[in-house]
Amino acid sequence: MTQNFEEIYERIQNAKIKAGRNDKIFFTAVSKTRTVEEMREAEKISWVDFFGENRVQEAEGKRAAYPESKIQWRLIGHLQNNKARKASEIFDCIDSVDSIELATRLNRIADELNKQIPILIEVNTSGEVSKSGVAPEKFSQLLDFVVTQKNLRLDGLMTVGPLTDDEKKIRNSFAQLRGIIENARASTGLTMPILSMGMSDDFELAILEGSTMVRIGTLLFGARFYSTK
Ligand SMILES: *Cc1c(COP(=O)(O)O)cnc(C)c1O
Repeated sequence: MTQNFEEIYERIQNAKIKAGRNDKIFFTAVSKTRTVEEMREAEKISWVDFFGENRVQEAEGKRAAYPESKIQWRLIGHLQNNKARKASEIFDCIDSVDSIELATRLNRIADELNKQIPILIEVNTSGEVSKSGVAPEKFSQLLDFVVTQKNLRLDGLMTVGPLTDDEKKIRNSFAQLRGIIENARASTGLTMPILSMGMSDDFELAILEGSTMVRIGTLLFGARFYSTK
């Protein structure tokens, strides 16, 4: 792990000051491709709240190798319907719910496991076809369905910003998600505390737009040497 974590903390604090905010911003350490040894080091940092993994299989192996982890693990990558059961066993929270079919499956599995699964709905605010997430036009239909699923607990929303240097476009994407969550809170009466947006390259802009959870990998651990989606 790089020794960047003091700097990350400072940058988060500075962005909060710039945004005039004093509320809690959760920190998800994105540990995809990282070893369990690296994760152990990251968990020692007092303000690391969660691990974020994007592949069920990778996370399964790491959970088995790291059973003493005391923080919760979140699935932040796209989830295929046929991996919903395994994901429900391995992860504490599933942040990438993006279809009625997936929500239906997760709810049924949670019912069988006699538990409630905390979830986020992922929204594609960038319009990039390579990105997962429900299209903004289809969001309210998915929301209406999810709130009827007794074994799912909707904690908020997630998005991945567009891949561009254009700060305005990035901020627009985050502002769009904030607008969506505000409407959703009003229409459902749910608290939905988690607005998960912002990664290594854009977390300060996300904080300015109201993010309450940043997901950071590269800045914390260094560059990834093999790519995952
Ligand atoms: C990989 C990933 C991140 C972290 O990206 P970095 O640029 O390494 O900080 C955050 N969110 C999701 C959904 C990811 O897949």
